[in-house]
Amino acid sequence: MVVRDAREVSGMQPDIDAAAAATAATGRDGGADTEVVIALRGVERVYRSGHLDYLALRGVDLTVDAGEMVAIAGPSGSGKSTVLNIMTGIDRPTSGSVTVGGRELDSMSEDELAVWRGEHVGIVFQFFQLLPTLTALENTMLPLDFARRGSVEERLTTANERLELVGLGDRVDRFPSELSGGEQQRVAIARAMACDPLLLVADEPTGNLDSETASAMLDVLQSVNRTGTTVVYVTHDVTLGARAGRVVTLRDGVVVDDGR
Ligand code: ADP
Repeated sequence: MVVRDAREVSGMQPDIDAAAAATAATGRDGGADTEVVIALRGVERVYRSGHLDYLALRGVDLTVDAGEMVAIAGPSGSGKSTVLNIMTGIDRPTSGSVTVGGRELDSMSEDELAVWRGEHVGIVFQFFQLLPTLTALENTMLPLDFARRGSVEERLTTANERLELVGLGDRVDRFPSELSGGEQQRVAIARAMACDPLLLVADEPTGNLDSETASAMLDVLQSVNRTGTTVVYVTHDVTLGARAGRVVTLRDGVVVDDGR
């Protein structure tokens, strides 16, 4: 996944101009005090399977403010991953609107979305998706390299800082195979944070970790959140969901409790 995204990003220079990027970075909600980072309005998602249509999301309304840490909870099949993928523009709604960081994702082309995502969204996958032939430091530097952010020295400094943030400052030269599952997931978080995203999303980031390591992973996500980054993660584990400031509960494709 990172390779696909990275290639998309590397293929072009960001053509979002500075003003648009500034709007994307702040996403102010018409002068309100709080900054709205994510606004889903009447989002529906239909999956077509053969002749049958399956309504996975049935009109999801959800607002997330800057700096929030939100868990998306609910039983398997309730639409958690679909909501997350729609927030990042990986998936598109069948109807409804999606605004993230002041950008209407529906109006963006796939190329624009790829550039925007590379600049403003950090994504952590359940299976880490690290490149096995690169060290922790090199994996973390990848998004900076593809976005051509700063000099090589600056990229090294940033990557080291991100690994420090996730508690891996002493393992930057290790290859993924030399790291535990929890450590690999930390590298994935450091890499997702490389470009200082507006929003960090994680789909079941603890799904492959034992409960103690999973709890430590939530500590890392909380550290990230304390830096000011909005964090949204999917979990079906009630205990891990409770570690967020807010739990949004989905059932059968609708928000049954928006946690406010
Ligand atoms: P959750 O993350 O809560 O387990 P998902 O968002 O993955 O739920 O899926 C919601 C519903 O949509 C499920 O019933 C799932 O089977 C269905 N679904 C998800 N992706 C697809 C797809 N690509 N094609 C058909 N149905 C899908």
